This record gives sequence, structure tokens and C-alpha cells, in this order.
Amino acid sequence: MKDPVCGEDVKNTSYKYVYKGITYYFCSPMCMAEFKKNPEKFVKNK
Ligand SMILES: [Zn+2]
Repeated sequence: MKDPVCGEDVKNTSYKYVYKGITYYFCSPMCMAEFKKNPEKFVKNK
């Protein structure tokens, strides 16, 4: 799966966040924090 924030492939699935019933995976806590700040921004340009 891909990190929706930076677009990197995510191999380590420790950082995940469920938004509107979909689980997103992140490469780092920083990317996850960015996503939480404004999820719509990253969901739209999927
Ligand atoms: Zn990332």
C-alpha cells in the first residue's frame, strides 16, 4: 500500500489510521500527523 501523504510504498504497517471506514498506512508518524490534520486533502488526490 502507498502512503497517501508522500506517496511512498509502505512496508511497515505500524502507522495506520482509519478514516471514513478506510484504513490508511503511513511511512512515518510525521506523515500520519499530516494526514490527521487534513485528511480530505490527501483522500481526494488518490
Ligand atoms: Zn510518508
